[in-house]
Amino acid sequence: MAKEIYSRLMSVPGGGDPFDRHLFACAIAMALSSPGESLTLGLGLSEECLAALVGRYFPHAPGLLSGLSLSGHGDEPLTIEEPDLRTLLLDYRTRDLIEEEWLAHIVARRCLGANHLWQDLGLTGRADLSGLMRRHFVGLAELNSRDMKWKKFFYRELCQREGVLICKSPNCEVCTDFSTCFGVEDGASLLSGHPVAKPTLSDSTSGTIV
Ligand code: SF4
Repeated sequence: MAKEIYSRLMSVPGGGDPFDRHLFACAIAMALSSPGESLTLGLGLSEECLAALVGRYFPHAPGLLSGLSLSGHGDEPLTIEEPDLRTLLLDYRTRDLIEEEWLAHIVARRCLGANHLWQDLGLTGRADLSGLMRRHFVGLAELNSRDMKWKKFFYRELCQREGVLICKSPNCEVCTDFSTCFGVEDGASLLSGHPVAKPTLSDSTSGTIV
């Protein structure tokens, strides 16, 4: 179902930047593949924000997504750290775009999943998530200069903001958690089988950002 929804969303011309459109289509398709979950809840967005996103990027989607719930107050936090993670991302937003607010909510909500973050965002690979970060939250992406696992990195940043020490060592090289923090984030895309000819940052109309 997720693969089908992605294909339907991307098969018709829509608005916005092509790479961003791909990111949103992946997240929507992934969120809709969770049985019984409304799209607003799956994305952490209010009904109004979701309507604005769909209207800008997938103006044909209300017809394509007919029968699926787009309503609800999905922006109400599900965990105490979710608002802090949104704030962390938005503190480093690149261009003050509304898309960055939507993505901060989506990323924070999908961080609650059990898989690698890129997988729970429905992305093609980890490179998509790194591209998202460099494009929309570049200052935070630069702070992750050692390419730590993204979810680990976010939560470590949140802990540092609160003055909480989570590291077992002052030096990553000698830390027993090194593989937990820096191990590969590989695996299959949870939208496996969706078209490989996805837009890339080089196709983006705003490619100068990255
Ligand atoms: S490897 Fe150890 S020291 Fe480095 S970030 Fe992870 S927990 Fe902290």
